[in-house]
Formats: sequence, C-alpha cells, structure tokens
Amino acid sequence: MSTSAFADSQHPITWPAGFTAAASFTFDVDAESCVIAHDPTSTRRMSLMSHQSYGPKVAVPRLLQILARQEVRGTFFIPGFTAESYPDVVRQIVDGGHEIAHHGYLHEPMQGIDAAIEGSYLDRGLEALEKVAGVRPVGYRAPWWELNWHSPALLADRGFLYDSSLLDGDAPYRMSVAPGSPSGASDARDIVEIPVDWALDDWEQYAFYPGVTGSGVIESPAKVLEMWTLEAEAHHSQESCFVLTNHPFISGRPSKAVALEQLIERVKGMDGMWVTTLEQIAEHTKATVSEVHTHARIDVPTYPGAGARFKSGQVQVPALN
Ligand SMILES: [Zn+2]
Repeated sequence: MSTSAFADSQHPITWPAGFTAAASFTFDVDAESCVIAHDPTSTRRMSLMSHQSYGPKVAVPRLLQILARQEVRGTFFIPGFTAESYPDVVRQIVDGGHEIAHHGYLHEPMQGIDAAIEGSYLDRGLEALEKVAGVRPVGYRAPWWELNWHSPALLADRGFLYDSSLLDGDAPYRMSVAPGSPSGASDARDIVEIPVDWALDDWEQYAFYPGVTGSGVIESPAKVLEMWTLEAEAHHSQESCFVLTNHPFISGRPSKAVALEQLIERVKGMDGMWVTTLEQIAEHTKATVSEVHTHARIDVPTYPGAGARFKSGQVQVPALN
C-alpha cells in the first residue's frame, strides 16, 4: 500500500512486450441523457433534443466506419437511457467489436448523493445494457467524471474491473476501494483507475448550445488536432497512457470526425504505441501492477481563525479574532 503521488517517471506500468506506451479512443454516448439530467424540462425543446440525437443517429455510424477503417477498437460509455432509446445503434457498436461500458442510467449528477442512490443508478444502468446489448460491462465512467469517495466500493460490489473518472495520473493504476478513513480501512479490495484529462475531452473544444453549454467559441479542428497530437506525443515519450474522450454528438460532425481520423492515424504511427480498449489496459494493469494506491481523503483543515465558508455562492471570510 502506498499513499505516494504519481510523478511522471513513477507510474507503475510496464506495457506488454513490444509496446512502450498506450492509447485509447473513448466515446461517451450521452445523447439526450446529459441534457435531461441537467434540466428535465429540456425534453420540451425539439431543437435541443435534435442536437443531442445527432450523436446516435448520424455520428455513431460515421465513427464506427472510421474505427473499422483504422482497425481500432474503441470503448463506448453508454448511459442506460441511451441504450434503451437507441438499441440498434448500441448493437452496431457491439457488432463492431468495441467495448461497451457503463455511464450511469440517465447521466445522473453524482456529486453529493448517498451510496444507496448511486448504487441504484449503477444497477439500473447495468440492467439496461444487459437487456439491450447482452453485455455485462467491466468499465465505468461517472457522468461528468464525478466520482464520490464511496463509488469505488460500489463498483467493486458489482464486479467492475475499472473506473475512468479520476484526474490524478498519466497512467493506469490500482486503487483501494477504501479511501483513507477509519471507516473504510477494512476493505481490502481494489479496482483499476485509468485517469482522464479535461484537455483530452472534446467538450471543452467544441461543445456549444445557446443557454445550455459552452463558451460560444467552437474551436478549429486543426487547432484541436495539434493540441491532442502534442498530448499523445508527450504520453508516448514518457511511456504513459493517452485517453481521449469524445462525444459523438460533438466530435462526430464532419470536420471534427476527419480530424479525429487523422489523429488516430498519427497515434497508430507512434512507434510502440498500444492502441486498444480501456478494458484491455485495465486487465493488463490488474495482472501486472502489484502496488495498490490508497487515496487520502481531503478534509477541511481547522486552525485558529479558519472558517471560510461557501454560502449562497459567496465565500464568507470571518474576521480574525
Ligand atoms: Zn457523459
């Protein structure tokens, strides 16, 4: 057990023979779910719903063609509601040989919810994926990448192999399902974590819908291709793991899909780069890494004069006595 941080040169992975780094192309098939979870009244908005349904209707078939052409298997994180709404699309993904993974049922906001409710979301999502795709996923990505301290144990309870929602590493690692605390210290189980990065998410680059999300600036795919290439080259040189997160309704549009295929070609061309699914990377991590990382829970420090508090969106700083 260790509580050390992961520096660039300290990630505990040795890649399979013939490979010196890894890369995975992942797709979060949110479709309508993320918008409905954010605001249930959004179902009344036909145009907004169409912006989201572009993903499964138009983009996923296009992306599947690209992946087939490039002979790359991707990992598709699919909310249960998306699976039930677009069962044929999900079956096309399965038929393409790609990994199906869990992404909530209705892309529920997870922060602050208790373990029982979060567990019910996990179970509902599992049921939907099993019913529609005949798949019992081994991978999980929390909606909005919002993992709670109790989440790893909920995943282990349900047999998940890995999570891909945390942001504290450049390469996969094994993590204890009991973040450091007296109450959880007795749980000896662990799961694999495959970290992500907001700089490797298409949302920040391209997402825009008036009044819903985005800055209003939709970046050029040429700029994004350059940025993601630099990230892939850096991961390749430091022998870590490049994980790209794309949303079909965003990156499946024409010029963005072209840029994505160019990126895939570049990453595949990097000498010794293992381009594969997160499931494969997680299985390798579980089988070859012995160190298990225990996260230290963060508590608000107390000290004389402390007391800054968020209240009604305002930081209130009490006077020092
Ligand atoms: Zn999502």
